[in-house]
Amino acid sequence: MIKENVQKLFAQLGPTVKIVAAVKARSVNEILEAIDAGIEIIGENYVKEAEGIYQAIGKKVKWHFIGNLQKNKVKKAVELFDLIETVDSFAIAKEIDTCAASLNKIIPVFVEINSAKEKSKFGVLPEQAEELINEISRLPHLKVMGLMTMGPYSSNPEDLRPYFALTKNIFEKLKPLNLTNMQMLYLSMGMSDSYKVAIEEGANMVRIGTRIFGARHNSC
Ligand SMILES: *Cc1c(COP(=O)(O)O)cnc(C)c1O
Repeated sequence: MIKENVQKLFAQLGPTVKIVAAVKARSVNEILEAIDAGIEIIGENYVKEAEGIYQAIGKKVKWHFIGNLQKNKVKKAVELFDLIETVDSFAIAKEIDTCAASLNKIIPVFVEINSAKEKSKFGVLPEQAEELINEISRLPHLKVMGLMTMGPYSSNPEDLRPYFALTKNIFEKLKPLNLTNMQMLYLSMGMSDSYKVAIEEGANMVRIGTRIFGARHNSC
């Protein structure tokens, strides 16, 4: 089923939209099946979970961190991941820079936008995005390559449209700025239920879990 799901998505999305397979709580076998079907980027929410599956999956795919990054996990994250999608403060960016420097690496990052300004959500507020990216772009071991947003939870994807549009606006505004370590290429928004709306609003990267792997089996 996983293979068919991936093929269906590729056929639907065409070559211009990149798929990040969101693999939280999935088994190595499930992930390998998705990779066999052509998935080239996997997204993990948890550093610990990534460590557990890293050996088995290896470097044949790009690893994106898509969860909430805690300061004490940055070192490991910088070792394991090719790109961090959820930078939302200068403090965390600075820590990534320090760890990347010690590994002699430059880490591509996205800045996460709290597009619906929800108190419970991560991400920088839309009106503070430019200032944050200005600061981050001075860090030599980071490269800002895009924006990411979740949007509010809703069972109706149409409800997310204004938040995707808002994030796209910020993206377009930042793109032409000539900042040292910034090249705005990717707009990561949309999940299994909302990717169509997200793409209509300009996403060129979508993060898909359920539509590839089926429903997650939660223990609660
Ligand atoms: C789980 C997750 C996804 C994928 O969600 P689905 O609804 O299963 O497609 C995308 N982005 C993030 C940040 C996630 O945690």
